Amino acid sequence: MENKDIVIPATDDPDTAGFWAAARERRLVVQRCGDCGKMRFPPRPACTCGSFAMGWHEVSGRGRVWSYGVAHAPTLPAFADLVPYVFAVIELADAPHLRMVGNLATSAKAAINSVPQDAVAIGDEVTVAFRPVTDEVTLPVWIPATQSEVVQ
Ligand SMILES: [Zn+2]
Repeated sequence: MENKDIVIPATDDPDTAGFWAAARERRLVVQRCGDCGKMRFPPRPACTCGSFAMGWHEVSGRGRVWSYGVAHAPTLPAFADLVPYVFAVIELADAPHLRMVGNLATSAKAAINSVPQDAVAIGDEVTVAFRPVTDEVTLPVWIPATQSEVVQ
């Protein structure tokens, strides 16, 4: 897959820059309200309490498959050779009310179709790994505990 063929997230958005900076350092973070302490994801300017005060809170990178789907038709040409592949909604162990969408893989460097559909179940434990895509963008990917040991 050529990186030019996939959509690369903007890393200079004031609301999300902290997430991408942490991912480059292989840390998974969510926002935490500076007033009420509530954690939130995806990043946004304000808390439900109305406060704009916030900081970044590192989470463990452990979670569970809350739901998943299987892509059969590619949405972009770059993914044509990878279908079918599993995409999942991951519930964070540290903050079960927060979920992240991402790909499952057997390692940080393995293809997004490396975990077959029949090996995935809701509730499976996963651990985050980090995949550099460009100099600016490092994507979290999720390694099922049932797969090989996490290799960063
Ligand atoms: Zn708040």
